[in-house]
Amino acid sequence: MSRDRMSALQGEKLRRLVSHAYSNSPFYKRKFDQAGITPNDIRSIEDITKLPFTVKQDLRDNYPFGIMAVPMSDILRLHASSGTTGKPIVVGYTEHDLACWAEAVARCLTAFGLKKSDLIQISYGYGMFTGGLGLHAGVQAIGATVIPISSGNTQKQIQLMSDFGTTAFASTPSYAMYVAEQILASSIGSEGLKLRIGIFGAEPWTENMRHELENKLNIKAYDIYGLTEISGPGVGGECEYQNGIHIWEDLFYPEIIDPVTLEPVPHGCKGELVFTTLDKFGMPMIRYRTRDLTSLDYSICPCGRTAVRMGKILGRTDDMLIIRGVNVFPSQIEAILLEFPEYEPYFLIEIDRINNTDTFEIKVEVKPEFYTDRINQLVRIKHDLASRIQSVIGIHPEIRIVQPNTIERSENKSKRVIDHRKL
Ligand code: ADP
Ligand code: ZN
Repeated sequence: MSRDRMSALQGEKLRRLVSHAYSNSPFYKRKFDQAGITPNDIRSIEDITKLPFTVKQDLRDNYPFGIMAVPMSDILRLHASSGTTGKPIVVGYTEHDLACWAEAVARCLTAFGLKKSDLIQISYGYGMFTGGLGLHAGVQAIGATVIPISSGNTQKQIQLMSDFGTTAFASTPSYAMYVAEQILASSIGSEGLKLRIGIFGAEPWTENMRHELENKLNIKAYDIYGLTEISGPGVGGECEYQNGIHIWEDLFYPEIIDPVTLEPVPHGCKGELVFTTLDKFGMPMIRYRTRDLTSLDYSICPCGRTAVRMGKILGRTDDMLIIRGVNVFPSQIEAILLEFPEYEPYFLIEIDRINNTDTFEIKVEVKPEFYTDRINQLVRIKHDLASRIQSVIGIHPEIRIVQPNTIERSENKSKRVIDHRKL
């Protein structure tokens, strides 16, 4: 679609979205009223900058259903992603929203060169996370065969890949690397498989990692991007040129702003990515600040697609960590530590990537009255803390108890994370 036609379509959809949100979501009505904006102020896509931003805190404050813009009887599915205090953020989809999301994923799969004849193994988790079911609907939309194995059980993943002749594999890039190593170590080896395409996303990864995955598995490895608030995976994906992530901008309108001044940056410059869901009615997101840092390239791609291309995610403006594909906020760890009388509220998270898998260690201090040389007692409180963290955020940490008063106390912002990974 030419740029002019795309802008006209985006303008039309934005007008429809804003009046829907204004009339049906008390949250947006309040927000627009406060900003002194009415739907009549929005005539074209350029007018989008008049609208107020939406942030993650808005989703938490309105937990669970306060932003919905349709009656709950029209919501067909709910998904959730972790929040900073253990309270998740919730997203609801109408039948139309689910269809648009499937369409977006289907476009990604098509851009990766996948067809009806492919067998696609989905090793993203199924459940409240958007990865599994999100990819699933896209695979069905292109008419390929879906293998809904979900995450974990690596030996079974490899066995089915070999038995079924899986041609494409979807997971986080770090899990894919682990699977690749297990394949190479097994008697099957990558020559024993029919894999040709990898569908990798949900966490940042480098070009080096791409080359390694491509060489080890003898595949082409494609990047897929998305976030729960905007739908889930498939907001954009690479094409065969692997030169940026095409964003399906008739569905998800991207802007780049300066995270300090909140003004749009000049074309091509780096800044914070902001999305408006142009075709989502259950829980529309208007100018949602993703916290992801990147840039947009509007030049036409050699593949012929005119959809704008997003550069790799360069980092985030908040302190969210992505460990083994799972979102982790240091404040979640703090909140959990405070639940335990035995622990001091000081900690240090150390992350590394060893053998291509993220390690996750938390150094903590036990209060002097609980500090003991009775090993079994320390083992028990370590275990309780690790299980509590696992149940709240979904991944298992190594807990290391250090001597009292050894974790640095700071009056300013304390350093709570050391990330050794080279991403
Ligand atoms: P998901 O289930 O896809 O991880 P979340 O909402 O839990 O969705 O997390 C979304 C965040 O994950 C994004 O804001 C971004 O920081 C990160 N992310 C998702 N896909 C990619 C990708 N392909 N490259 C880099 N970061 C990504
Ligand atoms: Zn392209």
